[in-house]
Amino acid sequence: MKVEFYKHNLGKQEIKDVVKVLNTVFLTTGSDVKKFETNFSRYIDLKHTVGLTSCTAALHLALLAHNIGPGDEVVTSPLTFIATATAIMHTGAKPVFVDVEEETGNLNAALIEKALTKKTKAILPVHLYGHMCDMQAISKIARKHKLIVIEDAAHALETKRDELRPGQASHGACFSFYATKNITSGEGGAFATNNKKTAERVTKLRSHGMSTNAADRYTKKYQHWDMDILGWKYNMDNIHAALLHNQLKNVEKNLKQREKICQCYEKAFSPLKDIRLLQVRKNTKSARHMFTILVPPKRRDEILWGLQKKGVGVAVNYRAIHLLKYFKNTLGHKRNSFPIAENIGESTITLPLYPKLTQKEVDYVIKSVISTLDPENGAGAF
Ligand SMILES: *Cc1c(COP(=O)(O)O)cnc(C)c1O
Repeated sequence: MKVEFYKHNLGKQEIKDVVKVLNTVFLTTGSDVKKFETNFSRYIDLKHTVGLTSCTAALHLALLAHNIGPGDEVVTSPLTFIATATAIMHTGAKPVFVDVEEETGNLNAALIEKALTKKTKAILPVHLYGHMCDMQAISKIARKHKLIVIEDAAHALETKRDELRPGQASHGACFSFYATKNITSGEGGAFATNNKKTAERVTKLRSHGMSTNAADRYTKKYQHWDMDILGWKYNMDNIHAALLHNQLKNVEKNLKQREKICQCYEKAFSPLKDIRLLQVRKNTKSARHMFTILVPPKRRDEILWGLQKKGVGVAVNYRAIHLLKYFKNTLGHKRNSFPIAENIGESTITLPLYPKLTQKEVDYVIKSVISTLDPENGAGAF
C-alpha cells in the first residue's frame, strides 16, 4: 500500500474557474484577484486582503510596510519553515530566536521579554501546524514595548484562540497557498489586516511601487503612472486566484475531515509510551494543518525511513532552523541555544493529513507507525 504525504483537493469546479480566466484577455492581477481578496477577507474576518505570489512575499512586504530594515531586530521562533527568518533577513533586519513551548511547539510568550533589546522592532509569531500562539499574551507584550506584530499564519487559515483569528490582535497576518497548504493554488499567498493604510502600502509594494495597476489602466481611462517607492514583483494573478474561489467555500467542511483524522491518530497513539503528541490548548480551534508525532530522537530517522519503506509518505517539520548552516554562520548560533525547539526538531515526524485520506489509509498509517516503533509486538497488527 502507498499512502501519499499529501493530495490536493482541486477538482472540476477549480478547472472550470481557471478555464474561465484563460478564455478572457486579462490574465494578471484583475477581477479574480479582487474577488478572492473580498471573499478571503470575509472568511478570515479582517477588513483587507492583498493577494500575493507567496507567504514569503507576504512576510517580506508586511515587514517592509512597517519600515523594518537594517539595524532592526525581529523576535521569532526557531521551530518553523526557513521563510519566516529569511523574510526578516531580506529586509536587512536580524531574526532573534526565542525558544518554544514544550506542549505546542509555538513561540513561548513568557520568554519574549528577555529577548528584547533597544533594536527590537517586531515580533513574528508562527502558528505551528495550525495551532495558534497565545496572541493575547503576545499582543500585550507588544503594546507595552510598542512593537509591531506580524503573524506567520501559513498553517493557520482556520485557526482561532480566545475568540481571536490571525491578524485580529496584530498588525497583520501572512497566509500561504503553497502546494501542501490547507488551500492551494500551487504557489500563492496573501497578507490580511484590519489597517487600511498598511493594506494600501502592501498593495503598492507588490507591484514595483507603481501608483496605478495594469487592470485600472486597461479598464479605466488611461492614466500615466508614477513610482514613488521601491517595490517588488509579488502580485497574485487571476489564474492563481481562480483556483482559490471554490476551495475557500469548502474550508470548514474540509477542516471537519482533518479533525476526524487527527482524532483517529490521537486515539491510536496517545497510549503508546514511545510517542509524545503535542497538545491543543483550551479555547483553541486548530487548523489541523499537520499531524506530528514525537519519538525518541535516537530512533527518529530509523522510524522515518521505516515508514517510508512501508509506503507511508512522511516529512520532518521542522528541524530547528537556527542550526541550519546559513543561520548558524550568519547569526552565530550553537547547539543548546533553544533546547526545546531542538528537541522537538530531532524527535518529530509528520504523518499524512488531508481531507482525501481514506479510513483505510489512516488505519494503514497507524499500523505502520506501531509496527515500525516495535517490530516484535507490532507485527501482529498486520
Ligand atoms: C509554507 C510556509 C511558509 C512559506 O510559504 P510560501 O507560500 O511557500 O512562501 C512560511 N512559513 C511557514 C510556517 C510555512 O509553512
